[in-house]
Amino acid sequence: MKSYRLEFDGLKPALDIPSDGSPVIIAGPCGAESREQVVETAEALAGAGINVFRCGLWKPRTMPGCFEGVGETGLPWLVEAGKRTGMLTATEVATPAHLRAALDAGIDILWIGARTTVNPFLVQEIADEASIYVANGRDVRFLVKNPVNPDVDLWIGAIQRLYNAGVRRISAVHRGFSAYGAKSYRNPPQWPVPVELGRRIKGIQILCDPSHIGGKRELVEPLAKEALRMGFDGLIIESHRDPDAALSDARQQLTPAALSAILGRLRKTQASNTSDSGNDSAELSALREQIDRVDDSLMELLSQRMGIARAIGELKERNNMPVLQPERYDSLITGRVNTAEALGLSPDFVRKLLGVIHEESLRQQLHK
Ligand code: PEP
Ligand code: MN
Repeated sequence: MKSYRLEFDGLKPALDIPSDGSPVIIAGPCGAESREQVVETAEALAGAGINVFRCGLWKPRTMPGCFEGVGETGLPWLVEAGKRTGMLTATEVATPAHLRAALDAGIDILWIGARTTVNPFLVQEIADEASIYVANGRDVRFLVKNPVNPDVDLWIGAIQRLYNAGVRRISAVHRGFSAYGAKSYRNPPQWPVPVELGRRIKGIQILCDPSHIGGKRELVEPLAKEALRMGFDGLIIESHRDPDAALSDARQQLTPAALSAILGRLRKTQASNTSDSGNDSAELSALREQIDRVDDSLMELLSQRMGIARAIGELKERNNMPVLQPERYDSLITGRVNTAEALGLSPDFVRKLLGVIHEESLRQQLHK
């Protein structure tokens, strides 16, 4: 199906893996607002043992009129924060001009945001600009967030564009996906997507961004825990010295102290997981966790399907139509079996499964 070849020889993580093998942690405010806010937050985070500081300067907001960042004005604040604390600095770039400004100021790590990863032209322009720095010997490092839609090819494509430009230190970030009517999560996670990315780009460092997935500070800890249990290599978490007063993403930001407490609890859980299970069982639980996620999605989809079946049942009743329409059922089975075969599923299995699902649909249509 895919005609291109994936070539990622020599790809390295954007972030050094801590010598004790613990997950990498990036933290910092959604956006820079003032010199004091940047420096104070960075110092508190450094005190909590974090060594990579994230801070957005150019903020891509969905709606105009929201805080769009302080732009280049904030670059010296970030650089100062890095110098004072010894932390590496990371910021989002969405255009070649952002990249130039950030690299020239001495920012260590750049990230491509979800709203930019969707745009191959823009990613290519950023990659072309990066290639000039790479050619001059600069250690250019990128994090590539997933696109807003769950398209693993688009995500891989962005990584490949940077790789082709000569960038070798690239990591990926799962920050969830936009969804119409999303309620519990701001950007519901779709764990199979980063899993597929890891399968297609063997060995790529993948981080999770529980802040943008959850959208609420109380969801950060459970999501972070889930991500680490699933084998993500690290986390990127938003933290602000005064979250409620933040000019962007206030609901999801944590104080450095709250973040530090969460990280302490996560470390404890991880330590007990590894001590009583060893490497193989850690891998086994990560895989089981993936199965659990996939099964949750299956249940969600089945429940949606039954809801639609009930609506169809009501419509048929209003129009005096028979519930069972054999020609529709036949064409449904043939179509689904073809799709399933293309996905590597056994036709026999799919026929049986659809039979059971269809039987339940009929029952739902009859007893709405
Ligand atoms: C961010 O990290 O602040 C950000 C804007 O994230 P995303 O691109 O994931 O929405
Ligand atoms: Mn944010």
